[in-house]
Order: sequence, then structure tokens, then C-alpha cells
Amino acid sequence: MKIVVDLNRCQGYAQCAFLAPRVFELHGEEALLYTPQAPEDQRDRVRRAVAACPVQAILVEEEDRSDVR
Ligand code: SF4
Repeated sequence: MKIVVDLNRCQGYAQCAFLAPRVFELHGEEALLYTPQAPEDQRDRVRRAVAACPVQAILVEEEDRSDVR
């Protein structure tokens, strides 16, 4: 799955890094690093991170399914 984080919107709340630490990593207070091509086994964690982000900064795109969102 592809991930895009709107870094202008991200406020560094780190909910995503807490829920999916293999995909999102926070460096310092506001520098978010993430893996744009997340491994499939991280799908559920990424979904939780998307739901938990307080500013809806995380967008995901499923590649091998029709339920793109
Ligand atoms: S949860 Fe949202 S606001 Fe917080 S670090 Fe992740 S993307 Fe940024």
C-alpha cells in the first residue's frame, strides 16, 4: 500500500508512530519520516494510524484492491 503524509498538515502528534512504528517514525518534535511503500503486513497498523491521526494527514492507497480510499 502506498502512503502519503501531508507534512504541512502533520502536527507531529506521533499517534501514527506509536501505532505503526515500522512505517512512521518521528525525529525530534515535528520531523516525521515514513515509508511511502508500506509492507502489506503493516496494513492493519497503517489503517489504525490513519484513523488515529488527529489532523487526517495520512492518505493511503491500496494497490491490489478495489477499495481505494
Ligand atoms: S499522527 Fe498525524 S499529525 Fe501525528 S505525526 Fe502522524 S501524521 Fe503527523
